[in-house]
Amino acid sequence: MQTAIGVDLGGSHVTAGVVTDDGSIKVQHELDLTDLAFDKVVDAVVTVVGQALADAGKDVAGIGLGSPGNVEPQTGAVLYSPNFGWKDAPLGATLKKRLGRDVFVGNDARCATLGEYTFGIGKGTQDFALLTLGTGIGGGFIAGGRLVIGHKFGAGEVGHHQIRPESGFVCGCGKIGCFEAQASGTGLIRHAFALAPSFPRSVLLDASRGKLSSKKIRKAAQAGDGHALAAWKNYSIDLATGLSNIISFVNPEMIALGGGVASAGQFMLDAVKDRVDALTTMVPKGTTTIGIAKLGNDAGQVGAATMVFRGGLKTSAP
Ligand SMILES: [Zn+2]
Repeated sequence: MQTAIGVDLGGSHVTAGVVTDDGSIKVQHELDLTDLAFDKVVDAVVTVVGQALADAGKDVAGIGLGSPGNVEPQTGAVLYSPNFGWKDAPLGATLKKRLGRDVFVGNDARCATLGEYTFGIGKGTQDFALLTLGTGIGGGFIAGGRLVIGHKFGAGEVGHHQIRPESGFVCGCGKIGCFEAQASGTGLIRHAFALAPSFPRSVLLDASRGKLSSKKIRKAAQAGDGHALAAWKNYSIDLATGLSNIISFVNPEMIALGGGVASAGQFMLDAVKDRVDALTTMVPKGTTTIGIAKLGNDAGQVGAATMVFRGGLKTSAP
């Protein structure tokens, strides 16, 4: 059995896991990131990877790391990352020097896609998409068993295709009505606020019951609350629009939904299925399975280690 170190680098913390080639995480180490300057982040990565390497023992196949931003997978350079404020940051080369080993670096959402495809619900498919519905929408595509990287490493930035350019919410990227602005966890909160005038006595808006969160809305919708159900309906319409677009772009066998909102499980699948079918025109209806991702927060670490097992982001499974 092979072992690799899978590192998930996020905006607030970095986690390194010892991952075996059946996709399970044996041990993991985590450090909070208090300073996002490049050198400080590198120090934190070196620390957690060092701890994971000590746990893993001698036979480690390599180190893989998923980072936010536009990543050049050959050199591991982070060309652009708004989360960190980095431009042309030589992450792969610097880590190689510090750790004395090759380090595969890829975009975090693409790594999660690779992990979910290889060891999660995508296992056994050839054409697969992952959408992580969290603060934003991260994604990635597998076509013919290979991860789609794109000409300049931007394939899978599915959160920023516009679905409501006239009437939607303002996206963090500056455009209006991006899929991410409408159908992420944050999008669900926005739908609830947009409907607030119609529900003046809504318990969702009662501040004494805690801050409005996507989890609160999802749970209230499942419990039958009127305001939450109305927000959930508008949210589901936008989610279904994006899903049907993805089906027409890449015709996947399966689209897996991950992230906090997807914890709604069957309730979410039921809300989108008919509408996705109605919006699917040139691809045979109902032939793309929409499912719930299995790996949860582990997808990033497992996927980063999968890069090591596969010899990089692009190569097919061994
Ligand atoms: Zn956007």
